[in-house]
Amino acid sequence: MATPANTNRLVQSTCPYCGVGCGIDVIAATANTIDKVASEQANSALSDLTGTAEHPANFGRLCIKGSHLLETTQLAGRMTSPSIEGENATWDEATDAISNKIKLLLAEHGPKSIALYVSGQLLTEDYYVANKLMKGFIGSANIDTNSRLCMSSAVAAYKRAFGEDIVPTCYDDIDKTDLLVLVGSNAAWTHPVLFQRMERAKQINPALKIIQIDTRRTASSSIADLHLQLKPSSDAVLFNGLLRYIDEQQANTDFIDQATCGYLAALAAAMPYNTANVAALCDLEEAKVVEFYELFVQQASAITFYSMGINQSSSGVDKANAIINCHLATGKIGVEGSGPFSITGQPNAMGGREVGGLANMLAAHMDIENSAHRKIVQDFWQAPNIVTQNGLKAVDMFDAMLSGEIKFVWIMGTNPVVSMPNRSKIEKALKRCEMVVVSDVVQKNDTLTLANIALPATPWSEKDGTVTNSERCISRQRSMLPPTGDAKHDWQIISEVAKKLGFAEAFDYKQPCDIFKEHASLSGAGNHGTRAFDISALANITQTQYEKLVPIQWPVNKTQPLGTKRLFTDGVFFTANQKANFIAIVPRLPEQITTLDYPFILNTGRTRDQWHTMTRTGNAARLHQHTEQALLSIHPIDAKRLIINNNDIIELKSSQGLPVLLPALIDDSIRQGELFVPIHWSKSSSSHVAITELFSDANDPISGQPELKHAAVSAQKVNIQQFAHISSRQPIPATLLEEFSDYWTSTKLHDCILYRLALFTNNPLWLSDIQHKFNSSETVLSANLDNIAATLVALNNQRVSLVVHIGKVNTVANSQWLDYLFALPEIEAQQLHSIIRYSPDASFTQGKLICSCHTVRSKTIEEAILNGSDTVELLGAELKCGTNCGSCKGELASIIADTKSSVTSHETRPRSAMPLSTIPATTIPIITIETSK
Ligand code: SF4
Repeated sequence: MATPANTNRLVQSTCPYCGVGCGIDVIAATANTIDKVASEQANSALSDLTGTAEHPANFGRLCIKGSHLLETTQLAGRMTSPSIEGENATWDEATDAISNKIKLLLAEHGPKSIALYVSGQLLTEDYYVANKLMKGFIGSANIDTNSRLCMSSAVAAYKRAFGEDIVPTCYDDIDKTDLLVLVGSNAAWTHPVLFQRMERAKQINPALKIIQIDTRRTASSSIADLHLQLKPSSDAVLFNGLLRYIDEQQANTDFIDQATCGYLAALAAAMPYNTANVAALCDLEEAKVVEFYELFVQQASAITFYSMGINQSSSGVDKANAIINCHLATGKIGVEGSGPFSITGQPNAMGGREVGGLANMLAAHMDIENSAHRKIVQDFWQAPNIVTQNGLKAVDMFDAMLSGEIKFVWIMGTNPVVSMPNRSKIEKALKRCEMVVVSDVVQKNDTLTLANIALPATPWSEKDGTVTNSERCISRQRSMLPPTGDAKHDWQIISEVAKKLGFAEAFDYKQPCDIFKEHASLSGAGNHGTRAFDISALANITQTQYEKLVPIQWPVNKTQPLGTKRLFTDGVFFTANQKANFIAIVPRLPEQITTLDYPFILNTGRTRDQWHTMTRTGNAARLHQHTEQALLSIHPIDAKRLIINNNDIIELKSSQGLPVLLPALIDDSIRQGELFVPIHWSKSSSSHVAITELFSDANDPISGQPELKHAAVSAQKVNIQQFAHISSRQPIPATLLEEFSDYWTSTKLHDCILYRLALFTNNPLWLSDIQHKFNSSETVLSANLDNIAATLVALNNQRVSLVVHIGKVNTVANSQWLDYLFALPEIEAQQLHSIIRYSPDASFTQGKLICSCHTVRSKTIEEAILNGSDTVELLGAELKCGTNCGSCKGELASIIADTKSSVTSHETRPRSAMPLSTIPATTIPIITIETSK
């Protein structure tokens, strides 16, 4: 066994979550050379995680998710060895099985029977090798990615307008602009560090105007001068109206004439949308529409940020082009402080696009259906089977699995059973495949349950390569630890299979640097300035230079060897005639429209502290504190009409799929007639919160991006007979929870897991049943509190190991108190009594956690505001809230506004669910206390 190095080392890497791409510094106590046995303890060897002070994406800042990355590197739950049909296997056995199956299918059914479904979390090097294998050697373009769900509409719009998938602006432009327009993006929660840069820009330059265009009032509203809370999916109408307004007021005719084409056709399509029509169609006040239009025209510069609210639509490409049209018409592009700016949700969505990781791309921003591009790539790769046709995009790919056309799929680093729309169909499609291979870092997720072969891949802390963020900045993700167990890097796994398929020479990579150099070299092949994606100046870097590579924005070539901040500064675009294209937009309705049976519009989105399907952030107890369970936001007027109270369990149904059940949160930040649900929960964490069940396959006809923010659903309160909370030190299998209940959801805390259960039928759940099921030999105390509620507590050596509370009323579990009890080394009699009464001390009833970094809760904040600390800065000075990662600053601003207005109006708007218990502790008679051993 090798001896771990005794010196600490600084590792500079990149956050693996959102597309902001923040630099991260970590102190690793062990060197990469330690052997695998030592690595079993190695995750505890990482410490002192901070933002990289000199990284241009974050300059030292991190949001709450990035700050808690080290809590997600735990070994518990890691997949550490390959398996075939649930049985451990060697790598040789697993890659033999995969390559033999591919060979068989190629011989019998051809390359179209093979598919890869990959991920924006892969590194560029992984993505490059996967794409090369499929499109050059297997001969199938059926490789698509979860980035299809995230930014493919933005990509298609850029290609239509600019001739290439190019984000023209950069983060620095935030500091130089006069107007920020935030469309369909709650950046305060989804891209917090970028949002904080917007906040700072406004503090430094109070003249900066910020406009939020969103169907919801969100944490991002706190910095907006104007919020247009428009009707869902009416964005194209709003921006068509802006184009008409620009033409009437102050179009940049020089720029339009010299650098664009198609203006008149786009304008003709926009002509029906005068400000009165826009106001009516978007359900906005006309004066607010005019205020926005006037600012866009009058301000010297403007950046329009857009995200899922634009992209995840059956007309997402048109919406993005409607935005780009307005930048072209005013010449607000290619100059400091201006441009359309899609912000991506994934860490390496752009890196994946660079290597052609979508089914309708080749590599290095070349096109499959362009014969000259095909020849460049074929010659470069010496590829025997270069593809000639686009492959199937994600929705079509799973359809082809369902029809039997695709018989083999290899899923890498993503969880499509949870994230793709029409979950039931995705499950059926995977079951229909002859072989499903899943490479992942975790042992268990909803997709892995359907895998024939599971392969352990390396996670963030072990991976080594590059990623590209939303502003075209390539950064290194550096390995901090050696691979755990038998885990391998994705590029290694793919290369091993490629070698077994007979392509050893083309996939003989020794290290990520070999792949990066090949990728960089291909970007310059046959380019001659025809493609913006050109990093050929990096094609000959040495291993040492690759190790030390600092963040750099592409293009990086002979003329721009130090990278490029912004593009189109010369008014030249990458279309055939070098002019940008206006696109004539005819706004379309969503495909999933409401009916009498399904009268609500269902919107989806993100919570502040979770990411994607929680396979990583779900491991960090701290990240569950802000939002412990998925809640259904419903407008107070709708709730009143349906007699729904906070915390009632609501059943959502659409015209397809299984119903979804989750507790209600009465919330006036959404529009009447709309509902909102976060996306992160799955069947791994709850019984009925698989929200994609309710969404159809509706997708954009150009980009194929699914319409994941607009479904038509019904909502109905479920009649619950009994509720229960089970807090357990050990995880409880889902099968056991389903024996107890009709509905359950789980929340990971530091020292226990809290399960919330409900029974629909009048078939009471008895403590004795639960005790019997757990077969507990520990000391058990139980109390029937009356005919309403009862509590059980199991002790193991005077430590709490299980707490069960059942009742007819859905009380709110006080997770902070429960977690505290489980953390105690020994329980005292008084504490035992408080458990039996299920009644926490006052110190645990300070409301919702707002600042996770400094554990500051809503009631404490409200008291401080009432005592005069009524700005975010004053609250920070008094309570420290918002002074670390800053993710909660938007909420602090909202609480300040709400508290002030409640003082004025003597009314308190419901902010969250009811306090702990509706049963006053003093009225609960303890009828029995039994002790068993
Ligand atoms: Fe990571 Fe947060 Fe930065 Fe996004 S904003 S890259 S999640 S630290």
